[in-house]
Amino acid sequence: MPSLKKITPGQPQIFLTVDTETDCPPYLHTFRGITEGIFPLLSLLREEDVPATFFVTGEVAETCPDIISCLIPEGHELASHGFGHRDFTGLDRESARRDIQRSLDILRPFGPIDSFRAPYLRFPEDYLDLLEKVGIRIDSSRAKYKPAYLQKSRQTSLQRIPVSVTSSVLRLPAWIRTPWLGALRSPVVLFVHPWEFVDLREADIPLDCRFRTGRAALVCLREVIRFYRKRNFQFRKMQDLLQDRT
Ligand SMILES: [Zn+2]
Repeated sequence: MPSLKKITPGQPQIFLTVDTETDCPPYLHTFRGITEGIFPLLSLLREEDVPATFFVTGEVAETCPDIISCLIPEGHELASHGFGHRDFTGLDRESARRDIQRSLDILRPFGPIDSFRAPYLRFPEDYLDLLEKVGIRIDSSRAKYKPAYLQKSRQTSLQRIPVSVTSSVLRLPAWIRTPWLGALRSPVVLFVHPWEFVDLREADIPLDCRFRTGRAALVCLREVIRFYRKRNFQFRKMQDLLQDRT
């Protein structure tokens, strides 16, 4: 397994993350992203030599363990995306605790789990201690483009690293996407989903979920990776942040 990468002082950082879940929740409940979409994604990451952080639901790891077991040996980080892709803002404290614990019980046999991202990028500030208590050290549940980001963060020992932009922006034509991505400040946190690399253009899901899915999404992602690499960004995993403190 490759060692953690320390930050080079002054170099801008980018975190490519993959929310690994059933297809386009809550609209579908199929696993085509995992059985089809993840393989071309992994090949692309290998070709471009990019380590990624995979936030995986317990449900996906339980259903497709052979595929999830490939991630850490490929040099990626395995992290938690909860168990059943529930919206934590609709869960009482005990249900939230159980969902997190259930995901960790399934994921930790695959390797160390240090990072967490809540489904739908929504997680109550009052529940942060639930993550602390089970050894999570990094939370990436907030998004810079959502109103909740402007609210005061609760005191926590977790490192919090918010998402910079929503996933569908990466699939926009380059002339719109490029200035948008170019304006994001380091550390840039991007996310994609394995189901975006399956052709879902005809699926009964919202337009922003289905447009330019499949091969076009892969082409876009390769362009995005090269865009940041050209600008001297360092691609890192969430776990690499833990190394910065030592
Ligand atoms: Zn998700």
